[in-house]
Amino acid sequence: MQRRYFDYAATTPIDKEVLKTMIPHLEEDFGNPSSVYSFGRDARKSVDDARDSVAKIIGAQNKEIFFTSGGTESDNWAIKGVAYANKDKGNHIITTVIEHHAVLHTCKYLSKQGFEITYLPVDEYGLIDLDELKNAIKDTTILISVMFANNEIGTIQPIEEIGKIAKEHKIYFHTDAVQALGSVKIDVNALNIDLMSISSHKIYGPKGVGALYIRKGVKIDNLIHGGSQERKKRAGTENVPAIVGFAKACDLAFDNLDNYIEGSTKLRDYMIKGILESIDEVRLNGHPTKRLPGNVNVSIRYIEGESILLSLDLIGIAASSGSACTSGSLDPSHVLLAIGLTHEIAHGSLRLTIGKYTTKEEIDFVLDKLPGIIQRLRDMSPLYEIKEGK
Ligand SMILES: *Cc1c(COP(=O)(O)O)cnc(C)c1O
Repeated sequence: MQRRYFDYAATTPIDKEVLKTMIPHLEEDFGNPSSVYSFGRDARKSVDDARDSVAKIIGAQNKEIFFTSGGTESDNWAIKGVAYANKDKGNHIITTVIEHHAVLHTCKYLSKQGFEITYLPVDEYGLIDLDELKNAIKDTTILISVMFANNEIGTIQPIEEIGKIAKEHKIYFHTDAVQALGSVKIDVNALNIDLMSISSHKIYGPKGVGALYIRKGVKIDNLIHGGSQERKKRAGTENVPAIVGFAKACDLAFDNLDNYIEGSTKLRDYMIKGILESIDEVRLNGHPTKRLPGNVNVSIRYIEGESILLSLDLIGIAASSGSACTSGSLDPSHVLLAIGLTHEIAHGSLRLTIGKYTTKEEIDFVLDKLPGIIQRLRDMSPLYEIKEGK
């Protein structure tokens, strides 16, 4: 059976070009970058070159890029590191209710350690209110952490305005840009970003590698202690093949950004239109235009997102839902509840995320199959029967 992948927000396939650049570093170029002889020096050079590529895609200096094990570690490091290093100045952190768990659970952990966390609400589209942000700022606020773009509903926050507010108040601004990288133009200076988390496997690079951008001068404690790698800020022997692959993925994303945004946005809007027109009682989640070029998220009434996923899987379509039943919990996603959906409607949510390999043919396949699947599931749904008055 031909499989069709619509879960690019969960992870992406590795680009063949990326893989090609990694192979030599898994074979003959295996040196430890900390070693003084030529094997080590070559590896060191590869890591430094990689740092240039990552810096370039976000407008940073190479010295401001620190390689990590991925988005989760970068989020943990940014938030805990800034919290611990600046606790003499204050204990207050502002974030939002729709962050990734890597941010939310880190904040929850810090709240048990005496830090005070404000979780900003969002409107029906998933956007924060800038006045609410300003009102939340106190003398003790040391960090604002607002994600660049949401992984579930695709909403892109007003990052430039948030950066301005943070700068005016001399508060550090961290953003989780894992979903935005490669999908949105990012310039850390124009946007006044002080710390930014990025990850390789969401942009066609290998898993288990990412980076934290730390603006020069930001006071931050180490998260991982040990050797003197990453300019004594992040210990542990560098994952050279993965770092090199991540860098290549950044180069490709950088070169292809305008193209990707244009093509993908067209496909996304074509898919959204197709779904909204062919199925009744369906709503688009997230903002119609301030939205990642690859994100489609809809709520379909009278059915469970999980059942749609299973039916789609049977015909080779990989997608994701907004309910977290798969993770052993019956609670719908915190993001869908935060934009005001009822539990019932949030449970019937479907996220289809497209990427650079998605074709119109694949989307047409989904558009062709989805209405029939929904009708079959609704015919079996007690909720739908009541609605139909049967
Ligand atoms: C995937 C993701 C993460 C986690 O990144 P990993 O590299 O998988 O640890 C964090 N934040 C967002 C918004 C993500 O989409």
